Amino acid sequence: MVQAANLGYPRFGVNRELKQALEAYWSGRIPAGMLLDAGRQIRLAHWGLQAAAGIDVIPSNDFSFYDHVLDTSLMVGAVPPRYRSLQDGHPLDLLFAMARGVQRPGVDLPAMEMTKWFDTNYHYIVPEIEPGQEFRLAATPVVDAYQEARQAGYDTRPVLLGPVTYLKLSKSTRPGVSPLQALPRLLPVYAEVLGRLAEAGAGWVQVDEPCLVLDLDEASREAYTLAYTQLGRLPGVRLMLAAYFGALGDNLSLAAELPTAGLHVDLARAPQQLERVLEKLPAGKTLSLGLVDGRNVWRTDLDRALAAIHQAVEVLGGERVQVAPSCSLMFSPSDLELETGLDAELRSWLAFARQKLDEVVTLRQAANQGIQAVAAAWAAGRAALESRRRSTRTHHPEVRARQARLNLDMLQRRNSFEVRRVQQAQRLSLPPLPTTTIGSFPQTAEVRARRRANTQGKLSDAEYEAYLRAEIERTIRLQEELGLDVLVHGEFERSDMVEYFGEQLAGFAFTQHGWVQSYGSRGVRPPIIYGDVYRPAPMTVPWAAYAQSLTPRPVKGMLTGPVTILQWSFVRDDQPRAQTCQQIALALRDEVHDLEQAGISMIQIDEPALREGLPLRRAEQSAYLQWAVECFRLASSGVRDDTQIHTHMCYAEFNDIIDAIVALDADVISIEASRSKMELLEAFRRSEYPNQIGPGVYDIHSPRIPSQAEIEALVESALHALHPEQVWINPDCGLKTRQWDEVVPALRHMVAAAQAARQKLERQPER
Ligand code: GLN
Ligand code: ZN
Repeated sequence: MVQAANLGYPRFGVNRELKQALEAYWSGRIPAGMLLDAGRQIRLAHWGLQAAAGIDVIPSNDFSFYDHVLDTSLMVGAVPPRYRSLQDGHPLDLLFAMARGVQRPGVDLPAMEMTKWFDTNYHYIVPEIEPGQEFRLAATPVVDAYQEARQAGYDTRPVLLGPVTYLKLSKSTRPGVSPLQALPRLLPVYAEVLGRLAEAGAGWVQVDEPCLVLDLDEASREAYTLAYTQLGRLPGVRLMLAAYFGALGDNLSLAAELPTAGLHVDLARAPQQLERVLEKLPAGKTLSLGLVDGRNVWRTDLDRALAAIHQAVEVLGGERVQVAPSCSLMFSPSDLELETGLDAELRSWLAFARQKLDEVVTLRQAANQGIQAVAAAWAAGRAALESRRRSTRTHHPEVRARQARLNLDMLQRRNSFEVRRVQQAQRLSLPPLPTTTIGSFPQTAEVRARRRANTQGKLSDAEYEAYLRAEIERTIRLQEELGLDVLVHGEFERSDMVEYFGEQLAGFAFTQHGWVQSYGSRGVRPPIIYGDVYRPAPMTVPWAAYAQSLTPRPVKGMLTGPVTILQWSFVRDDQPRAQTCQQIALALRDEVHDLEQAGISMIQIDEPALREGLPLRRAEQSAYLQWAVECFRLASSGVRDDTQIHTHMCYAEFNDIIDAIVALDADVISIEASRSKMELLEAFRRSEYPNQIGPGVYDIHSPRIPSQAEIEALVESALHALHPEQVWINPDCGLKTRQWDEVVPALRHMVAAAQAARQKLERQPER
């Protein structure tokens, strides 16, 4: 009989109980005991609802108070020396110190580094591995979770982050030493945990090794063999090796042959791999089919999934087959039932975590007893798919016709940067080293309160608008007074840089409760792109035009780029991402055109998510970069030579995409650089970046106010790497998370630093 399995459930709780408990604990409003209790309640509720849904294989230890990679570091005793003084205190305090840093009398520890988990928007805490790192079994949350579930009546399959993926996601404290070298010392700790789990009665353990879907070098492949030769055949416990987020590809033989009792594969991202997996799977191994997409919000095509199950059962027999989501459901919003604001048709197309459990169970029933056993669910699934396929809401003939008419000229500015530069200089007459900001000014509690009041109908549109205008005017005057050269309106009308545009574009829907964990207690609520995208009316023009009417200095129009809007949304799965992105780009192109017509001389198109869209496999990266760059150019190239296009990106790893950044052909790019101390300018220098660059000289992610001297030093190093006529001076990101009393002095220092640098340039014009 085919079984229904799950790999992980969202951690926050249906009403984000975890977020509330965490924030209450951090602010000292509740004691540790209450936070622990909240965690227990959530786990129990989730085991209960999975059991009630009919899931046979329910995960435990998929819960975490902050991050499962950090939990693994604590489990194996990989605590960086600077936190060790906290090891005698409450374990939660050590955990949160590593996750978030601590500042109290006598202790001042920054947080550990955080980075994106594969190509998701979830961030994990990067483990730090010293050369010669020793490990020990320092905590056993996985055993505790298994026992806790068992006491509550659920025999679960505990989840562990696999040792190879754990080390591959780590960073070494000594450059040049691979963390993988620590594997032989790490494996005994894993063996000990697995032994404890076996003692506690766990028959199966899920070991997550998503690195198996990446390009692997020889050392990594050897690491896999070493690890699972040691762990795969331990007595008493069988391992389900889970490889998700893509195809196993050239690692298929390796993964299939590792001596584990089971293999889980992602058939949502890589349905075509099933046939080869079935060929390669050794006799006796259980196969878990990841058929329900854990990364998106659409209902599963049940007929197609059932065909895959039949194919597997034919080769392996039902006993050796499990049906499952493609990966943990933590990347899905929790429950569609809460979305009373969505219309019935659109809702019928969707499945959130809770509904995905039902799909898995329905598929199991259909596989074991035939679809007549689940006739109602099956019919509903088919009807939803059919309605989506035929809906006029997803296909807009004019959008399609416009895409068909696209031509290469639309991806090109009229003239090269050299020509544009001269025309822009004439029109804009800026000083050398022009100063500007990235767009947003502080989103204070007051701004947010007024917006809420307006949405709730307590503040009229006219009043809200008048308030925003007053904020814009105040901000323009302030920027003039500070002496900035290129101004912004401040983005006060925007709750979020994607939501603001999505709400005004056709083809987007928004949830009320569709939260997905981003990191720790932070969640995001991505919009859902369900249909062809177009722009019914201008989105930003009145604000930009109003701001420009207040001042003779140039005000930048401010847009979020097509790739970032795509990347931070749930994207329709019935056409290629590139096609959806192109539609967004066309809508933005219209907006760019209207801004230009309204007399705006500079337009910034932010692409902070361009880098994170990069596919995990090298072989797929260039195709992605090509369409991503084309979409940016489609949005931005329709302007006159003397209209200046800016873009902004905020991450430090530019090396692998520098060619794509050059290919964007933006006149000016502003980038994060202050935290990496301008190191990334090396990449721009090496590539002889031809256009203009504003390397961030003020780290807006910290409440610290940089001094003029500090900023001057950063400007100085920028001038070493770049030609002076290329350089702009700006913070490294938008200021929306800062307070006014931090922003004003920091910008004052920045402008003063720019003036000092200009004077120096005049004195030594030959440098
Ligand atoms: N223009 C945006 C802002 O200033 C850019 C934000 C971002 O890069 N994430 O807020
Ligand atoms: Zn930024």
